Amino acid sequence: MTQTSLLGMSLAELEGLCADEGMPRYTAKQMCDWLYAKHVDSIDAMTNLSLKARNRLKEIAVIGRHYPVNCQVSCDGTKKYLFQKSDDPSQYIESVFIPDGDRGTLCVSCQAGCKMGCRFCVTGQQGFHGNLSVTDILNQIFSIPEAPQLTNIVFMGMGEPMDNLDNVLRSTEVLTSPWGLGWSPHRITVSTVGIIPGLKRFLDESQCHVAVSLHNPFAKEREDIMPMQKAYPIADVVALLRQYDWSGQRRISFEYIMFRGLNDDTRHAAELVRLLKGLYCRVNLIRFHSSPDTPFKTSLPKDMERFRDYLNAHGVICTIRASRGEDIMAACGLLAGKNQ
Ligand code: SF4
Repeated sequence: MTQTSLLGMSLAELEGLCADEGMPRYTAKQMCDWLYAKHVDSIDAMTNLSLKARNRLKEIAVIGRHYPVNCQVSCDGTKKYLFQKSDDPSQYIESVFIPDGDRGTLCVSCQAGCKMGCRFCVTGQQGFHGNLSVTDILNQIFSIPEAPQLTNIVFMGMGEPMDNLDNVLRSTEVLTSPWGLGWSPHRITVSTVGIIPGLKRFLDESQCHVAVSLHNPFAKEREDIMPMQKAYPIADVVALLRQYDWSGQRRISFEYIMFRGLNDDTRHAAELVRLLKGLYCRVNLIRFHSSPDTPFKTSLPKDMERFRDYLNAHGVICTIRASRGEDIMAACGLLAGKNQ
């Protein structure tokens, strides 16, 4: 019999489980408290549940917590954790903890590998090896030693969140619900290459921030590095985003990895301004991190600064994002999910 994983279940789902098992309804609230406020990793630790209830739960369920099998530490304090996929331990996924003063950000994965095939991305070059369950997504957040220090979560690790949207939305529901962690949705950012049907649903059903991977404003040039451009042109993605109000607390940002000689001249900056003009947003320029076997090179710092200044001078807020964890292959586009 397959055992249910409790981590990731909503209060309503736990109430349903209690009803099925003849347990009092309030047991579900107690279980939420143990799972999400007290972070227990065993059913035995739920000590205010009756012994009978705990024994029955152990027959039909597990918490679903498992600890990282490896951790690499960067010279800048960034840590890269390696986890096994719980339903297929031959597959590995990675999460990156980025400390920054009072902030502790965790970059989580939502898939093993990825279907999107972005040509500059190590994950994308590995192909797709399965969606992560809500339990495996949340486990990355709950099972690292820095869990109590986390202030922000970004879904920018391995995989495309809109391609595993049910489980991403279920995990953000746990993070933001009063019966879960009770976080503001504005502490969470979900990235996408712009899968329009998923993005539309996400915009309608969630209040979390959104980050769109843009990387080139010209359709043909973007398609050369991001095959999904063909199905979901960036112009259509931006048109969809313009239908929503971004003047409040919810933010939209565009990630722009800078490749030397490919997307970093004034022609690109001018087209980016034209594409984004009037949209409340921010553009984050990211230095490309070379990996073996890639033909791409990173832009020169002076070209990144010129690009940033052009955008800011033309009304598009733009910053150069600090690069973290490069020495342990933890930076953007380098997650390989390999047990070394
Ligand atoms: Fe997938 Fe993101 Fe890599 Fe593109 S950049 S292949 S969407 S993981």
